[in-house]
Amino acid sequence: MTDWQNVIGHGWAVQMLRQSLANGRNGHAYLITGPDQVGKTTLARALAQALNCTGEADGSCGPGHLCRACALIANDRYPDVRLVEPEVSGRGKLTLKIETIRQLQQELNLSAYEARTKVAILKRFDAATIGASNAFLKTLEEPPPRVVLILTATDADTLLPTISSRCRTLNLRPLATELIEQSLTTRWRVDDDTAHLLAHLADGRLGWAVRAAQESAILEERAAHLAQLQEALAGSRVRRFQLADKLANKPEAAPAVLQTWVSWWRDVNLLAQSGGTGMAALTNIDQLDAMRQTASRVPDTAVLASLKQTTLALWQLEHNANGRLVLENLFLTYPYLTM
Ligand SMILES: [Zn+2]
Repeated sequence: MTDWQNVIGHGWAVQMLRQSLANGRNGHAYLITGPDQVGKTTLARALAQALNCTGEADGSCGPGHLCRACALIANDRYPDVRLVEPEVSGRGKLTLKIETIRQLQQELNLSAYEARTKVAILKRFDAATIGASNAFLKTLEEPPPRVVLILTATDADTLLPTISSRCRTLNLRPLATELIEQSLTTRWRVDDDTAHLLAHLADGRLGWAVRAAQESAILEERAAHLAQLQEALAGSRVRRFQLADKLANKPEAAPAVLQTWVSWWRDVNLLAQSGGTGMAALTNIDQLDAMRQTASRVPDTAVLASLKQTTLALWQLEHNANGRLVLENLFLTYPYLTM
């Protein structure tokens, strides 16, 4: 059989797709939704493989040996499976342009090189412009024969209803921490301690955990974010304003810093609410001592206020507010923790 084993978790989605393929009742358009790096594109590739596997009948495709089609699709090198991604424009904003859609439409109208079914995987369709969405609507309404379209997005609500209503939607949920930890140690040979930490930090996103295991810069960045938070909490008002200035000078990096801080305050709040015992749901499990200390020294109301204000500050930064003002305001809310 084909390569569904590359999909970790999401068993119900795999089961549903397998069944509809076995019954010859697959749709011509799918929308796979879920958080970033939860496995949407991996599931899309697995469906493209299932639609085009050549070793299915004689069993010559499976673990350890993929047929030609499945192997090429796994590496995005199969001519009849197109992966379409939005472009990054200024300030890291993603845009899927109408020209990209038009080019795809021309390709889909040509006959396949070798595939049974041509597949287009359109990543992050929530980044499509209105023009691109409307152009693509024509393809959804009258798809060329033997073409399957797979869209991915974080949330179906971010697409035009005319688009999402024409797709079969599969909503992928975050994976269990234990499943991520186990997959990291068995499939990616990550050592036990790192796997344990990354599984908690991943918030259910296996793709993030795998990347963090391979790129040390990701954990190094997080450590720097946490050090800046401790510096702010221990610092005077003057020191905090200097820090706000420094962070505001790198506007493209600031949202990631605040994301780390939100996750830290969420943990401290959990600890405060549970009297220090709420362990299972914690994200930053390597920060337990510092978080417990803060939870015991800061009034619960101040912890909650810090969490809310950091969440608000992150939202404001993502909506182009003045970074320096947002950060100064945030630091006015934070409690003073002199060491
Ligand atoms: Zn195959």
